[in-house]
Amino acid sequence: DVADRIAKISSTIRIIPDFPKPGIMFHDITTLLLDHAAFKDTIDLFVERYKDMNISVVAGVEARGFIFGPPIALAIGAKFVPLRKPNRLPGEVISEEYSLEYGTDIMEMHLGAVQAGDQALVVDDLIATGGTLCAAMKLLERVGAHVVECACVVELVELKGRDRLGEKPLFVLVSST
Ligand code: AMP
Repeated sequence: DVADRIAKISSTIRIIPDFPKPGIMFHDITTLLLDHAAFKDTIDLFVERYKDMNISVVAGVEARGFIFGPPIALAIGAKFVPLRKPNRLPGEVISEEYSLEYGTDIMEMHLGAVQAGDQALVVDDLIATGGTLCAAMKLLERVGAHVVECACVVELVELKGRDRLGEKPLFVLVSST
């Protein structure tokens, strides 16, 4: 059943303490990618959820949203749009600044990639404080898209990123404490 599938996926994610800084429990999804059954099942669980939800665009957050987003987009018949770090996209962009633990970062999206009325799914590997997903949603909403949901493989529950998303639904496979 689903609980067994999620337990198997969870067991393939490697946790590395104190990376990249002391106090961070880094959840390394590259070990999930090495396990074909676990990687396939991760994508399948998302596809089972989103295949009939009329999603027209999957927006993936750089960098690990670029791993999970495209196979989901292909399987559900949606376009894929990369949300990138600053100065990486060659065309005209809109930018959203957001706060990190120390300082700020910028996320960019190509203008014209997403239209008003698009039904969007935002994908990343992990939600911590939720700041990254909030910036992603703002970019999509600024061009008139409707964000249906955010989807992550892992949620760091204690950081309460879910609260920061407000009313917006968040779907995760693995809840980590
Ligand atoms: P946040 O904006 O605080 O929700 O941070 C989420 C972003 O930072 C995602 O793109 C994650 O890949 C990355 N991230 C934050 N904390 C971790 C962690 N403990 N392990 C792996 N990735 C993390």
